Amino acid sequence: MALIVGVTGGIGSGKTAVTRCFEQRGITVVDADLVSRIVVEPGRPALTAIAAHFGADIIQADGTLDRAVLRARVFADATERKWLEHLTHPLIAQEILDQISASRSPYTILSSPLLLETTQKTLVDCVVVVDVPETLQLRRTVQRDNNDEAQVRRIMAVQMERHDRLAHADIVIENSGSLADLDKTVETLHKDFLLRSNTLR
Ligand code: ATP
Repeated sequence: MALIVGVTGGIGSGKTAVTRCFEQRGITVVDADLVSRIVVEPGRPALTAIAAHFGADIIQADGTLDRAVLRARVFADATERKWLEHLTHPLIAQEILDQISASRSPYTILSSPLLLETTQKTLVDCVVVVDVPETLQLRRTVQRDNNDEAQVRRIMAVQMERHDRLAHADIVIENSGSLADLDKTVETLHKDFLLRSNTLR
């Protein structure tokens, strides 16, 4: 069994920045956010089911899902959100498994904002939480997305609380320093994961 490392954290905590550092070291990163887009691509059964449930106008002229409209619909209604999760989560889990099985790197990263809230956590041998103070999380996300602060705060409010997330961590990456600091932290972890993956062989 190859080593699988889960990476999670709140919006704008730096998951992508962290996983980029691992990728630069030749490690395969399975990104649950990307997978969640793949399962609703045109031609996939989930897209047909979503159109039947929410109405055909959820599909754009080019045949792709109008993610902004869908997000607004499920954000406003917890029942609709549950319906969507019930449909997509098993498909996402299967696609993640397929991508992990296809990985040929010494160990594999599974990066997911919902790692701890879903069955995805059962796929990983160890949980890495990327953590920043909330003020910095807010500032970086607003800057990156050019979004207003209130919108980011609303997303933060529906995500797992920082304290609870940290309670699930095997390893915490503290990301309030520079990107160079982050790269150094990842280098240390990478060496450790390589050692661990060797002992698992
Ligand atoms: P999301 O959950 O929204 O996908 P994320 O956890 O992947 O977010 P990133 O996109 O990696 O977060 O980081 C958020 C923003 O903060 C990005 O613009 C990124 O470049 C910046 N950032 C991340 N880490 C650092 C750092 N150590 N120093 C400076 N900027 C950083």
